[in-house]
Amino acid sequence: MIIEPKIRGFICTTAHPDGCREHVRQMVKTVEERESFDGPKRALIIGASTGYGLASRVALAFGAGTRTLGVMFEKEPTEKRTASAGYYNTKAFESMAEERGLYAKSLNGDAYSRDMKEAVLTAIREDLGQIDLLVYSLAAPRRVDETGETWSSVIKPYGQSYSSKTLNLSTNEIEEVSLDSATDEEIKATIKVMGGEDWQAWVRFLDEAGVLADQAKTLAYSYIGPELTFPIYKDGSIGQAKQDLYRTADALTAEFKPKNGLEAYVAINKAVVTQSSAAIPSVPLYISILYKIMKEAGTQEGYIEQMERLFSAKVYGPEGVLTDEQGLIRVDDREMEAATQAAVNEIWAKVTTENITEYTDLNGYWSDFHELFGFGLEGVDYQRDVDLEIDQGQADV
Ligand code: NAD
Repeated sequence: MIIEPKIRGFICTTAHPDGCREHVRQMVKTVEERESFDGPKRALIIGASTGYGLASRVALAFGAGTRTLGVMFEKEPTEKRTASAGYYNTKAFESMAEERGLYAKSLNGDAYSRDMKEAVLTAIREDLGQIDLLVYSLAAPRRVDETGETWSSVIKPYGQSYSSKTLNLSTNEIEEVSLDSATDEEIKATIKVMGGEDWQAWVRFLDEAGVLADQAKTLAYSYIGPELTFPIYKDGSIGQAKQDLYRTADALTAEFKPKNGLEAYVAINKAVVTQSSAAIPSVPLYISILYKIMKEAGTQEGYIEQMERLFSAKVYGPEGVLTDEQGLIRVDDREMEAATQAAVNEIWAKVTTENITEYTDLNGYWSDFHELFGFGLEGVDYQRDVDLEIDQGQADV
């Protein structure tokens, strides 16, 4: 089958195995071209197949020789349907790690479930003994908790309504989006899905099983962003869940540091194109403007550059863990530079459907979006007849 992108709004329902492989290969190359660093020996990455979790895994494995265990929730291929991108990414990652003699195992299933926690524990016991780092990089629309109850997260403002410009990803037109405040029930559900409860459950579970090494670290990720997205992100429903994540980091450090030296942190990452960020109103338009400004200023980073810098300089660098006064690790520093934000605001005020290609990096947005699913990568033969049940990516590694 010749695989083509099938994009509906912010979702692409196909993925290209060769393109995903090439995408991962480029990430590996980026990391290997930088200086290696003294990172953790063994890491568990939850949400390891796309976006920031995949980039964390690549940065750690190929930058520090970390042996990684990854957890993901991805679709395998069938006779008629391609696998999801994260499935192909993970196959590619595993084979590139193997070529370098580096341990990499991945488990595909629901990270919120008890079964997955047990399966991870078995893998740690059998293969790694203990772990020195737990990265929690889940982004999920829903969670079935241990009692069987399903919680669905929402992306809405909270305590106010929201009206703003947004990019319609189906038409590339700028439209107005209006959303009412989330209800308290919706906030509760969003915190259940994207807050700290499951992160804490993982840490407690692994500690009770004795597989957290002394002085281990754990990291989860968040975003703050500019004032113009505060109502829909930082102060909105997702932001409420992130507040819960910050409280959980403090609670985990307070609970475990006296016991085994564990420290828990939240890293604030930069806005990048991922499957999750594409779903947030106004954010794709903001990213298109931001990319243009940051590329012109020479400060642009994708998720692999972000995660390489996070681990090599801010977590495992010579000065130890570097945080701001609130205890957060900031890799959004370049995005938040005053000159960058002033330039974004100026464009935000005047961007319209007519001038969008002049004022924003819309092409850069779409090329990153396509790459997430393995499309548009140089050197990949997109005319190749792919056998969906067999092929897991054949680009040259
Ligand atoms: P993503 O959609 O690219 O990745 C999500 C990962 O979670 C995938 O590996 C997926 O397989 C996995 N996953 C989802 N549900 C799962 C489940 N039930 N069980 C197991 N695995 C599951 O998302 P992302 O944008 O990289 O987001 C990761 C984290 O980074 C989130 O906390 C997000 O808030 C944060 N972040 C993102 C941005 C951004 O601009 N994208 C910026 C700052 C922080």
